[in-house]
Amino acid sequence: MKKTTGSDPSVTAKWRPATQAVRAGTARSQFGETSEALFLTSGYSYDSAEEVAARFAGEAEGMQYSRFKNPTVEMLQHRIAAMEAAEACLAQASGMAAMTSALLCMLSAGDHVVAGRAAFGSCRWILDNVLNRFGITHTVVDGTDNAAWEAAVQPNTKAFFFETPANPTMDLVDLEFVCSLARSKGITTVVDNAFATSVLQKPIDFGADVVAYSATKLMDGQGRVMAGAVCASKQWIEEKLSPFQRNTGPICAPFNAWVVLKGLETLSLRAPAQSASALQVAQFLEERGLRVLHPGLPSHPQHELCQRQMVAAGPIFSFIAPKGQEQAMALCNALELIDISNNIGDSKSLMCHPASTTHYNMGVEGRAEAGIEDGMLRINVGLEDVADLIEDLDQALGKVGL
Ligand SMILES: *Cc1c(COP(=O)(O)O)cnc(C)c1O
Repeated sequence: MKKTTGSDPSVTAKWRPATQAVRAGTARSQFGETSEALFLTSGYSYDSAEEVAARFAGEAEGMQYSRFKNPTVEMLQHRIAAMEAAEACLAQASGMAAMTSALLCMLSAGDHVVAGRAAFGSCRWILDNVLNRFGITHTVVDGTDNAAWEAAVQPNTKAFFFETPANPTMDLVDLEFVCSLARSKGITTVVDNAFATSVLQKPIDFGADVVAYSATKLMDGQGRVMAGAVCASKQWIEEKLSPFQRNTGPICAPFNAWVVLKGLETLSLRAPAQSASALQVAQFLEERGLRVLHPGLPSHPQHELCQRQMVAAGPIFSFIAPKGQEQAMALCNALELIDISNNIGDSKSLMCHPASTTHYNMGVEGRAEAGIEDGMLRINVGLEDVADLIEDLDQALGKVGL
């Protein structure tokens, strides 16, 4: 059995991303299995009472209980950290468990957060309905406006929290500017990188402190399991997130971790392929005369920033049905191949109407503030032949008079 299966971080850190995606983290059992083993166990047994005492005292390495550590989950954490070029990673039960934990583990009453206004509905909900209840205030800014970040900083600002690209407006945040502003003021940046993944964008390279994920999306890539991950420095993970997570329990199930490990093996092929198809679909819609929000298009106001900080713009983008919600819904209903679904990152192409689904709970005012129009449609472009997707959109647009 080869030693370099992937369990040594000093080895995996030197591998190129595609190799990390397939092998980093793999820790083989005594059987030498090629595919990562699925350890469905909550507990562990020990050779002696002294051994278990040493592990609880933090003096010996090893497993104690799967709320703390599980071998399959550890393989996933190692793989994600290697791909992200992060010192450490902890996996969670879902993307929202990851976002909630990343914020709650480090914030206290009296602290202040600055957040991008365009965000996944539940990310806004945490700020408005959880953090607020515990005396943690926030200011929402137009994430595309560098000066707005600077102006929103207060003496008690402890975190910047944003997505880039943001869901579903595809607004980008200037990672280099915003992360260095945060650094200069001792503020921790938490970047939700679900729309890109490390294959398309590495926020840590631009100075981000914490990179949080819904692994449900592109990492799984086939729409199977819920999972999340938080990457950061070893010190932040050990001092802030790990004690919070061990004691509150938003952990990733071993089965889900195993599925995501398998998903990651193909991520470096899927993400660029889906991005290329998405750009083609976006070009088709733009040529058809529709307003398209896709930072990979030269018409997008942040196209230059996209080229600076992203390898490709990803599989997801939005466009506007000019006559509003009724026309947007009719377009969804007219699709024959592309599914109506609010999920993203899947290898199947999916479309949804954010104002009535993912961002419904924000209310009319919240949506107006976040730039979510009634006619907006969000599409996740999958791995089907792009010609079939364009044909489907072509016939559906025809049916709604577009
Ligand atoms: C889906 C998503 C989340 C939430 O992740 P879950 O795995 O569904 O809990 C958070 N942020 C973004 C940008 C997302 O797309």
